[in-house]
Amino acid sequence: MSRFLSARFAGLEAYTPGEQPQDMQYVKLNTNESPYPPSPEVFARINGEEIGKLQLYPDPEGKVLRQKLADLYGVTAENIFLSNGSDDILNFAFMAFCDETHGAMFPEISYGFYPVYADLYGVQAKQVPLQADFTISAADYCKNEAMVVIANPNAPTGLELPQNDIEKIIQSNSDHVVIIDEAYIDFGGTSCVDLIHKYDNLLVVQTFSKSRSMAGARLGFAIASKGIIEDLNKIKYSTNPYNINRITLAAGEAAVDSNDYYMENCKKIAATRERTTKELREIGFTVLDSVANFIFAKSDAISGADLYAGLKKKGVLVRYFGKEKIKDFVRITIGTDEQMDILLEKTKELLAEGGKA
Ligand SMILES: *Cc1c(COP(=O)(O)O)cnc(C)c1O
Repeated sequence: MSRFLSARFAGLEAYTPGEQPQDMQYVKLNTNESPYPPSPEVFARINGEEIGKLQLYPDPEGKVLRQKLADLYGVTAENIFLSNGSDDILNFAFMAFCDETHGAMFPEISYGFYPVYADLYGVQAKQVPLQADFTISAADYCKNEAMVVIANPNAPTGLELPQNDIEKIIQSNSDHVVIIDEAYIDFGGTSCVDLIHKYDNLLVVQTFSKSRSMAGARLGFAIASKGIIEDLNKIKYSTNPYNINRITLAAGEAAVDSNDYYMENCKKIAATRERTTKELREIGFTVLDSVANFIFAKSDAISGADLYAGLKKKGVLVRYFGKEKIKDFVRITIGTDEQMDILLEKTKELLAEGGKA
């Protein structure tokens, strides 16, 4: 820290991204990326002609992509906001909808960025414990004086909150924004996008990073009432109007044009998830019922820390959080069937070696 940093950031604890090792080739199952490449349409679109336009600024409104997303989700372009990854939207939402009197509320075990944003903007964060079975109790989020943020399915558990529970939360917080972070919705959950027609306080956040194989391009989007989208735009045009680069916009358009390709990949990933879950359970693991592209698993025969470290030594990267209530678990991204075979094989080896890293 230099002596110039504002005192208000002195105690800020920044988000820690999952490892992105550059030194060796791992079977990389630690940051929920897709194991499948972008669609052929994306490859065709990012060509010399597109690169030749890089001296020009991109369309700050992202009109073409917003219209394509609006058509895909049955809303109007006025209901769509584009961002530099969905983290960008979460950042803007904490900036726009929270202050000294209106804090934020989210599950204690959820996406690790939520408390960081609350801290960044100095707003009160109410972190609600999960139930003993790791589910979210909707009643805990009803009638509050805070913006509510819920990842559905939740991360890192992969568990889905039923639609009627989500609707209850939205209804009972009509004076506050309710953010439903649907980063993993395409892998088997039910989206609540249609509820934006009914509730002006609902903000649905999605991303191209997971189901659309574009984590490296940084593209997220929000779907909400016209008023909420206008608020997000006010923040965007006060910070970084060109928040999405030209190449990413073009890739996003081609990705929406080839939506079927991605939804087919999601189905494959869901099938691989079910098989992996079953096989891990057969060797004694507890695996939560995930509808996402990752599973949350633990075994009585090996600690979470040893499983993480042991797998890493054997060339397989998974995510370990080490937080007290989930310290027995690791989060495993669903890769290809071949990658999961390697994970299963290395896990069995570790158990046979006595479960110590
Ligand atoms: C990955 C993730 C995001 C953000 O992803 P971006 O790459 O910034 O779009 C947001 N929320 C959750 C729950 C995530 O897991």
